[in-house]
Amino acid sequence: VEVHVNDLEVIDKLGQGQYGVVEKVRHKNTNCLFALKRVRHSFDTKENERHIREINVQQRTTNCPYAVFFYGALFREGDLMILMELMDLSLDRMYKTAHLADVNKPIPGNVLKHVAYSVLSALDYMYQIKIIHRDVKPSNILTNRRGQFKMCDFGIAGQLVNSFARSEIGSQQYLAPERIDVKRDGSRGYTSVSDVWSFGITMVELANGKYPYEHWKTPFQQINDILNGPTPKLRDDDPRFDPELRDFVGKCLVKNPSERWRFNQLLKHSFLSGCDRPETLESMQEETAVFVKLILDVMEAKKAQQYSG
Ligand code: ADP
Ligand code: MG
Repeated sequence: VEVHVNDLEVIDKLGQGQYGVVEKVRHKNTNCLFALKRVRHSFDTKENERHIREINVQQRTTNCPYAVFFYGALFREGDLMILMELMDLSLDRMYKTAHLADVNKPIPGNVLKHVAYSVLSALDYMYQIKIIHRDVKPSNILTNRRGQFKMCDFGIAGQLVNSFARSEIGSQQYLAPERIDVKRDGSRGYTSVSDVWSFGITMVELANGKYPYEHWKTPFQQINDILNGPTPKLRDDDPRFDPELRDFVGKCLVKNPSERWRFNQLLKHSFLSGCDRPETLESMQEETAVFVKLILDVMEAKKAQQYSG
């Protein structure tokens, strides 16, 4: 079915990012629901048009179960619009709401394992077809009531949006050391290894329930912290963390990119052993579905409270 922008009706706002907004929309003729992302003040140049055409061809034909389905992108009145599969919750909101749900971890152990397996599967799949994510972070990992985890903002977010925004360094909290200090970067350019670092930071943040670096006051402080400060890790003396998980994030968070593990190596790490078995996957998905429902209920209740109070 062809979807035209004119036939979409905005139902709700799903979130606001640095470059645009994401809305829940309904296709009037079919009642189908989608997520529509609008990036403002994008430049409708010939080159971007070509880029959009390429991305449309490339990503519409990919069907990775761990990537949010991409229906297409276009320019309209100076806005870049991206139509995608509607999900129920992003991981930043999930872990930030968990303490209200009376659970002892920001994200339960098996659910976190499921996150790691899903995200790596998506990154590895896309890597095979030469798409690098470039913006791995909790808000770009989405989940739904069925208990699936899927990555969003592949390619488009990284390649196009960053070229618009000219990468302000202060806002890039998940940046790998070699992205900041290009002298350290043998490959001279963004490669999938830099995504492994961002993935490691994301895992530490989700396990701890807190972003691992202190709040930065200046871009200089950020650069210095990432390059010269201690490498973030999960504390040895914290019983909440599975030792396998601690080792796993240690393989991602290696400052030297050539010693950092690759996606396919990480997928074979003992932390993820058995994840590819259908019955394991099914039980992780069930457990995730229960947790997602719990968090969504808590969010719903909080919203109702705000209205009445
Ligand atoms: P960021 O990823 O930096 O938060 P975005 O503009 O990409 O900024 O997204 C804003 C928010 O919209 C996300 O944090 C997420 O909560 C929500 N969102 C994005 N895509 C979807 C989607 N496909 N389904 C549901 N919610 C989404
Ligand atoms: Mg995003």
